[in-house]
Amino acid sequence: MAGDGGRVCGDCSLCCTVLRVDELRKLGGVPCPELRSPAAARELGGGCGIHTSRPAICRGYRCLWLQGGLDEEDRPGRLGAVLDLVTRGAETRLEIHEAEPGTFDRSPRLRSIAGRYRAATPVRVLDVGDVSDPDRPYRILHPDGVEERVRGEHLTRMCDGEVVEQRRLPWLERTLRRVLIAWRRRRFDRF
Ligand code: SF4
Ligand code: SF4
Repeated sequence: MAGDGGRVCGDCSLCCTVLRVDELRKLGGVPCPELRSPAAARELGGGCGIHTSRPAICRGYRCLWLQGGLDEEDRPGRLGAVLDLVTRGAETRLEIHEAEPGTFDRSPRLRSIAGRYRAATPVRVLDVGDVSDPDRPYRILHPDGVEERVRGEHLTRMCDGEVVEQRRLPWLERTLRRVLIAWRRRRFDRF
């Protein structure tokens, strides 16, 4: 895949493991069944085993690095995470999809990038610790220094590493999450 500014995926295929592909019933955090081994990818010139018939979402996807939104040395493989700028409604946020549990906490570079973006926009860090759960945990780093950790229907708010609040999500948010999870499960069941 080629991106802006002459960047190409090359031997990177991290998004094929880290991201969810509903069309293939692939959860985020598990390798795509169509992904070739590194040796086969080198020999055949690409990691996708169904390159010509891959789903539209794979054809259109370009991570933030490929779009030129990160420094050259911040290739996803080197960072251990795939980053995207996602716009929902009026809000834009940075999403960080870890390749392994704890990558974000271990990586000064990732935390530095998050800190830079966090000054202007929320940063959502997706945990890969529980990939079989469509409602898997995540955390949001807010510009004001507050961090929210969501697991299931429970929210923990932290400030400077200290827990300042623990509660259930508001009723409306819980309901929306249940509807979304039910929709995802039904979608997976249709394949
Ligand atoms: S993570 Fe980015 S650079 Fe790597 S294969 Fe996916 S789009 Fe290409
Ligand atoms: S179908 Fe190909 S491009 Fe899409 S996730 Fe699987 S290996 Fe990657």
